[in-house]
Amino acid sequence: MARHGRCVTCGALGKLTLDHVPPRSAVPARPIEIRRLGQILSSIEQADPPRRGFAAPDFRSICARCNNERLGAVYDPALVAFADRVRTWVRSTLILTLPQDATVQMKPALVARAVIGHILAAVPERKMQPEEWASPANEAMRDYFLGDSLALPPILQLVVWPYASSRTVLARQLVRVELPSQGPYLLDVLKFYPVAFALLIDQSQTDLPHLRRIYPEMAGHPAGEIQFRLPLTNAPHKSWPESPGETGILLVSTERVFVIDRAAPARATS
Ligand SMILES: [Zn+2]
Repeated sequence: MARHGRCVTCGALGKLTLDHVPPRSAVPARPIEIRRLGQILSSIEQADPPRRGFAAPDFRSICARCNNERLGAVYDPALVAFADRVRTWVRSTLILTLPQDATVQMKPALVARAVIGHILAAVPERKMQPEEWASPANEAMRDYFLGDSLALPPILQLVVWPYASSRTVLARQLVRVELPSQGPYLLDVLKFYPVAFALLIDQSQTDLPHLRRIYPEMAGHPAGEIQFRLPLTNAPHKSWPESPGETGILLVSTERVFVIDRAAPARATS
């Protein structure tokens, strides 16, 4: 694996580092919590067995500065905090009655930058055609990741939904048609318990049903915090959107779908 190259998020040439998905500070999913969230979402199924012999991909694609100073120091903590609050909420439902939504705090611009950074990092620059590197979607993602603007570029929409599986999924450039006739949707995906995100490219009019859109500008500041309502009804199936299923058609290069069954490492106790 190439140790040097162009950083896929900032474009700097130099030594490349490994991106970790889910972030190293994310707590491993506990089976009891996954089952509980599955009950809440009415999607109880057998736990996903680990894929034997499946080698988790290493995303050696970003420079140390993007990895440590941007993702590691600023963006991932906001992503992990949001995921932790959803987990805490799931645990609390063992003693509370269930509302329709989980309301949790979130720093939406930082979460958006974390999600976009990990999605970008999934494909090293050397594996892209030059036109892919320069595509409007990739340029918009890199600009947002590196900048401090509040709103997402108009070409990008970020949506989130609750996700009850131990399986981490990262997929780029899925093209999906919902049946009977919605789409096609072009989307990138990052899923790890208890939340899943999709970055929709160039969907000017409609959100996909039942997914809650994240508007970072609502926080008023790049590090601002909002109360975010995560809907618990009508969540998509846990293998949506990377598996075709009965509700849609998928056009995808399997080179760009990564399933990561390793658990997150234990949280550092510093
Ligand atoms: Zn970089």
